[in-house]
Amino acid sequence: MHLPYNLSKKILAWYDNNSRELPWRVSKKSPNKLYYRLLSEFMLQQTQVKTVLPYFKNFLLHFPTLKSLSKASEKKVLKLWEGLGYYRRAKNLLTTAKTLVEKYNSKLPYKVSDIKKLPGIGDYTANALLAFIYDQPTIAIDGNVKRVFSRILNINENLLDFNKIIEINRKQLFKGERHSDFVEALMEFGALICKPKEPQCSKCNIKKTCKYFNSDNKFKKIKKYKPQEKSYDIFCYINKVKNKIALTKKHNLGFLDNFYLPPIKLSKSKNKIKNWNFHSNFKNSISNKILNINLYYKYSSTLPIKSQWFSLKANNEFIPSFTKKVFKQFTNLN
Ligand code: SF4
Repeated sequence: MHLPYNLSKKILAWYDNNSRELPWRVSKKSPNKLYYRLLSEFMLQQTQVKTVLPYFKNFLLHFPTLKSLSKASEKKVLKLWEGLGYYRRAKNLLTTAKTLVEKYNSKLPYKVSDIKKLPGIGDYTANALLAFIYDQPTIAIDGNVKRVFSRILNINENLLDFNKIIEINRKQLFKGERHSDFVEALMEFGALICKPKEPQCSKCNIKKTCKYFNSDNKFKKIKKYKPQEKSYDIFCYINKVKNKIALTKKHNLGFLDNFYLPPIKLSKSKNKIKNWNFHSNFKNSISNKILNINLYYKYSSTLPIKSQWFSLKANNEFIPSFTKKVFKQFTNLN
C-alpha cells in the first residue's frame, strides 16, 4: 500500500504548470476564501465544473458574502439554484451559512467533528475545507483521489481502505508545506490527467512509478453505479379557460416534497388510468433517481385540495425545471 515517495512533489510540480483558473481558487488571504470554497463545494457535489461555473458567478452577484447569504430567504436561494438539481444542497448551504455566521463568527470550526455537524457536510467536504481554509495536512477523498491512488497501486478501488493508505503514507504525502495546494492538485490531476475513461498516461509525470501503467495485468474496471428507475403517474388538472395548471407541494414521496408539481404518485400498474387522458411518457432525473413519467391530464375548473393554480406561461415564480418540463408538454395542447 505504499505510494511513490515523491508523489506530492511530482503532483504539485504538475499542478503549478497546469491548473485551471477557477473562480473559487482565490488567494489564501482573501476574506471570501471560506465562502467561495463552501459555495463551490456544495455546488460541485454530483455536478461538473463547467455546469457549476455560471451558477457560481450568478450566485455571487446576488449574495457576494457569507453574511449576505446567511440573511437570504430559502425561496431566493432555491430560485438561484434552479436547474442545478439536488435542491437539498441549496437548503443545507443556507443553514450552514447561517450557523457559521451566528455560531462561529463567520469562521470555519477547527475540529473536523464540528465541521461535520454542519448540514450537508460529510467527511470529504470537512477535510477539503480544513485543508483549503487552515492548510491542514489532510486529504479529501473524492472520486478523483480514489481513482489516482487505485491506479498508482493497480488495485480496484472497492478493495482499498483509503484512510489506511493515507495513514501509512502520511510522512511522504505531507512532507511539504503546501497541504491546501496538494489537496487541490490531487483532485485536479485526477480530473485532467488520470481521467476516468482515458487516463493521459503519455503526459503523466508519475508514470514511471505507476503500477497500472507498468502492469500487463491491469485491474478490471469498476462497475458504474446505476441510478434507480421507477415509474410515476403525474395528474395534470388544466383550467382551459385560464390556461392554468394545478400544482401542489404535498406529494408524500419524500424526495419531491416542497416542490411545486402536479399531483404525482408511484405507478401501480401498466394499464391506463380511468377518467384521465393519457398525454405522453418521458424520463427525468432527480437526485439519484430516474423517473419514468406517465403524464395524464383532464380539463377542470375545480382546484384539487392542497393545490394552487399556476399559469402555464408564467416563468417568474419558483417552479422547478422538472415542472417546467411538464408545462412544455402542454404548450400545444388543444
Ligand atoms: S500513468 Fe496513467 S494511470 Fe498512472 S497515474 Fe498517470 S495517468 Fe494515471
